[in-house]
Amino acid sequence: MAGVTLSHPDKVLWPAQGGRPAVTKADLARYYEAAAPRLLTHVAQRPVSIVRAPEGIDGERFFQRHAMPGHSPRLALIDVKERKPYVGVSDAGGLVAIGQSGGLELHPWGCRPGDPETPDQITFDLDPDEGLDFGDVIAAARMLKPYLEGLGLTPFVKTTGGKGLHVVVPIKSDSRSRVEWDQAKAFAKAVSEAMRKDHPERFTTTLAKKARGGKIFLDYLRNGRMATAVAPWSPRARPGATIAFPLSWGQVKAGLDPRAYTIADAAALLKKPDPWKDFRKAEASLKPALKKMGL
Ligand code: ATP
Ligand code: MN
Repeated sequence: MAGVTLSHPDKVLWPAQGGRPAVTKADLARYYEAAAPRLLTHVAQRPVSIVRAPEGIDGERFFQRHAMPGHSPRLALIDVKERKPYVGVSDAGGLVAIGQSGGLELHPWGCRPGDPETPDQITFDLDPDEGLDFGDVIAAARMLKPYLEGLGLTPFVKTTGGKGLHVVVPIKSDSRSRVEWDQAKAFAKAVSEAMRKDHPERFTTTLAKKARGGKIFLDYLRNGRMATAVAPWSPRARPGATIAFPLSWGQVKAGLDPRAYTIADAAALLKKPDPWKDFRKAEASLKPALKKMGL
C-alpha cells in the first residue's frame, strides 16, 4: 500500500468494542492512506512522536521520537540539534510505513514545517478532572474562544479522541511576526492564568492531578520547544479506534460525542468539507497579542 509492504495485515490493533468492529493493521494502513492529504497538513516536515503499539492497544506501547535501527526509508529524518535526528513524515508512504510498524498515534511539534526552531501554532489542552462531563469541556472551550478572539487570534477546536478538547491557534511565522518558543509558551501560560482568574471555579493551571478538584486543567505546556500535541486526524491507541477530529465551532455544543469519530467512520468523515480548511489562512501575528497580555 502506497509502496509499503504490510506484514501481518490481519493483526487486530483495536479489538471490537461497544458495537464497533475490530480494526486491523490493514484497516489502519488504508486509513492513513485515505486521510493522508488532511493529516499531512498537520504533521509533514515536523518532528513527530509516534505512539507505537505493535501488538495493539492492549499490548505494550512506547513513544518513539528518534529513528530506530532498520527504520523505514519512507520516513524523514529531522535534525533538531540533538545527538540523534528525530523522525518526520513527508508523504502517504511515510504514514503507511508508520502504520506498518504499529504506529497508532502521531504527535507533532507545534513548529513551522521544516523549521523546528519556530512555533507556528499555540495549543490549549483542556483536560477535565475525573467526574466532569463532556458538557463542562464544551463550556470551557466556548469560554476560551472569545478570549483568544479578543487578542486578535482565530481559534480552532478539535476532539482528542479522548477525554478533552484542544483549542489551537495558528500564528504567523514570517520574519516580521516570528516569536521564540519561550514567548509562545509564556503566552499560553498567561492566557491560561487569566482564564483561571476569571473562572476559578472552572479552571486550574496546576499540573498535579490532586489539584484538579472537579475542574478543567488548562494545560499550556504543549507549547514549548519539543512539546507535542496529537495531530488532527491522528488515530488514538484507545478503545474504539477514535481519531482526533477537527471540528467547526458550530459542532461544539450539547450532543457532541468524541466517540463518534473513529477509523470505522473515516470514509464518511473524509467526504465532508474540512472544518479546518482555512487553518493556515487564519494565521495571525502573536506579537500584538503578547503585548496585550503584558509580555
Ligand atoms: P485527552 O483529551 O484524553 O487528554 P490528549 O491527547 O490531550 O487527550 P494528554 O494526556 O492530555 O492527551 O496529553 C496531551 C499531549 O501531551 C498529548 O497529545 C501528547 O502529545 C503529549 N504527551 C502526553 N504524554 C506524553 C509522553 N509520555 N511523551 C510525550 N508526549 C506526551
Ligand atoms: Mn488533554
